[in-house]
Amino acid sequence: MVATTDPIQTPPRTWNYGTVFLFSLITTSAVIGVPAFAYFYDYTWVDWTMFGLLYVITGLGITVGYHRLFAHRSFNCPNWVKGGLLIAGGWALQNSALKWASDHIRHHARCDQDEDPYNALRGFWFSHVGWLFVNDRHADEKYASRLRQDSVVVWQQRYYVPIVLSGLILPFIVGVLYNGWISGLGCFLLAGVGRTFFVLNSTFCINSVCHLWGSQPHTTADSSRDSWAVSLLTFGEGYHNYHHTHQRDYRNGPRWYNFDPSKWLIFGLSLMGMARDLCRVQPERTRFVRSPSR
Ligand SMILES: [Zn+2]
Ligand SMILES: [Zn+2]
Repeated sequence: MVATTDPIQTPPRTWNYGTVFLFSLITTSAVIGVPAFAYFYDYTWVDWTMFGLLYVITGLGITVGYHRLFAHRSFNCPNWVKGGLLIAGGWALQNSALKWASDHIRHHARCDQDEDPYNALRGFWFSHVGWLFVNDRHADEKYASRLRQDSVVVWQQRYYVPIVLSGLILPFIVGVLYNGWISGLGCFLLAGVGRTFFVLNSTFCINSVCHLWGSQPHTTADSSRDSWAVSLLTFGEGYHNYHHTHQRDYRNGPRWYNFDPSKWLIFGLSLMGMARDLCRVQPERTRFVRSPSR
């Protein structure tokens, strides 16, 4: 008779009603509210300028701050620079850096497996946004332990809600100062809600599009793919197959002609003494690499 052991029980899948409600509100406001305001009042150059500025600032907060700095330690920087990146990233409404980066570390460690929080093998919609609508059954504190050592990460976690609100109030105040309450509402809708919707979806494309469609010039050991088109929307994060192969490299697009504004910003910060210890895979290692460093 063969002795058997009980398999480890995975908790049942349950809905995360808070996220479902929040994302329904944002999507409805972005898809209906933003065009409706344009129909009745139209947007001003101030609204569009704030939209563009906040798209760039919050997008880079995620790619340079949350992703390359905190999830991958691809460079280091003084605490005040970290704080700036964490405010910018917090404005993107993608959860605290502690939660975001620990999920992302697990994504690399357990890519394409059940424990991968946005496992692309479960389809486009699950990896794009569906994973946020169910409670995480594989959360593991070990992926957050290194991040908890950073006092700036802990600070951002504590003040995450006020940081998010400040990113929505800022365009409202700018609009009010420009031309009154209606202008404030317009700037809030376009540069607050609409911009949040677009940055969220561009980031989500990394987890969905860049694990489903694109080339695999560096590794076929997981589902990651390079997509220059996604890089245009995400400040260079679309070179995801290279990134999965060399995850600590501060560049996602390693060639000089790759569109990777995040690496340009990190390199620019290093020239000004605001970043140091930039990790970079040597060209010869890129050429001879045989297996991914997951
Ligand atoms: Zn990935
Ligand atoms: Zn990564």
